[in-house]
Amino acid sequence: MVDTRIDVAGLQPLESKLPGTGTTIFTVMSQLAAESGALNLSQGFPEFDPDPRLVELVHKHMRDGSNQYAPMMGVEVLREALAEKVSTLYGREADPQTEVTVCSGATEGLFSSIHALVRPGDEVIVFDPAYDSYEPAVTLAGGITRHVPLVSSDERPALHIDWQALTDTLNDQTRLIILNFPHNPTGAILAPDDLDRLSEILGDRPVYLLSDEVYEHIVFDGERHYSLMEHDDLWRRSLVISSFGKTYHVTGWKLGYCVAPGNLTREFRNVHQWNTFTSVTPMQLALADFMRETPEHYAELSRFYERKRDLFCDLLSKSRFQLDRAAGTFFQTLRYDAITDTLDVDYARQLTVEQGVAAIPVSVFCAEPPTPGTLRFCFAKNDNTLREAAETLCRL
Ligand code: PMP
Ligand code: GLN
Repeated sequence: MVDTRIDVAGLQPLESKLPGTGTTIFTVMSQLAAESGALNLSQGFPEFDPDPRLVELVHKHMRDGSNQYAPMMGVEVLREALAEKVSTLYGREADPQTEVTVCSGATEGLFSSIHALVRPGDEVIVFDPAYDSYEPAVTLAGGITRHVPLVSSDERPALHIDWQALTDTLNDQTRLIILNFPHNPTGAILAPDDLDRLSEILGDRPVYLLSDEVYEHIVFDGERHYSLMEHDDLWRRSLVISSFGKTYHVTGWKLGYCVAPGNLTREFRNVHQWNTFTSVTPMQLALADFMRETPEHYAELSRFYERKRDLFCDLLSKSRFQLDRAAGTFFQTLRYDAITDTLDVDYARQLTVEQGVAAIPVSVFCAEPPTPGTLRFCFAKNDNTLREAAETLCRL
């Protein structure tokens, strides 16, 4: 039972602002994996190091004395490198001075965006399964989260937005829609005409968009990522968030960024400056150098992870788990109803403690638990780890 009250002797007890959330599943499962000596395919982080050149560049900037506060909006060379990237990839000419902001991980970018836009009583639409940091941030801003499940159909078997359900959920209180493609945990991606469809549905409603695109560079099978930045109507109402953690194998650096039109960026920075104020300096400088020196890095990332996805899925072909190969991200979901009808939260715990493989139960991302039971496995791991995990899973 989670304690939802702050009790201090002699003081009036305080109710928690987030009584239902408990500790994040990523912390819970990684801790359990460590205690059980299990292979950790739960929390999403690479098992391998970043490029040694990137680490060397951090050392260089530390030795050169770049150890004090960076500007509030991020170091200029990094904002310029990002503006160049979004121009090349998405055809969006974002002004590095007024439309690009570096923040302390995508988590901070999402939190600051939500606090910039959401007022008490506003409704925010998320698509289930929804990444776990969205709803608590909305709740803390006084907003109300509305959950619209992603769906699949005969015409379109891959998970996608249910346009009718979205239309039915929109109302005069809707302030914001949060999108996340490529999608954690399912790996779903947007199709080219999804952006037009969204724009048509929104029409002239005063609804903003927050697009979590942290897996923008991990898309498989010759497909590509469609950013909200590419669409003029969506762009004018969007904050787009990404993270260096996924792209450069540096999740522990907690660096991300927000690209948004000037008027939205102004308000984003207004919150960001009172939240973290600024982010770690030598890493920002190193990433700017590295992006200039190695522009091919992110272009090769999809191929790198596609091979790992295929290795993991091929190895599991003899198991009783069922899967549709992820279209993007470094996560693969597996359905296990041919093995057991145990709830996914319990099954994830059981697999970790008894079998030595840790995964994330997908129901924690949903208002209504999905059927059949589904677990998410992170394949950003060394091949030997994936082989060892698959061997165990094939025995079940
Ligand atoms: N959004 C999604 C969908 C994520 O998967 C993650 C973390 N893996 C984040 C946001 C947070 O990114 P960061 O670590 O840069 O805060
Ligand atoms: N985003 C990562 C995941 O989905 C975890 C980040 C975190 O631990 N907060 O696993």
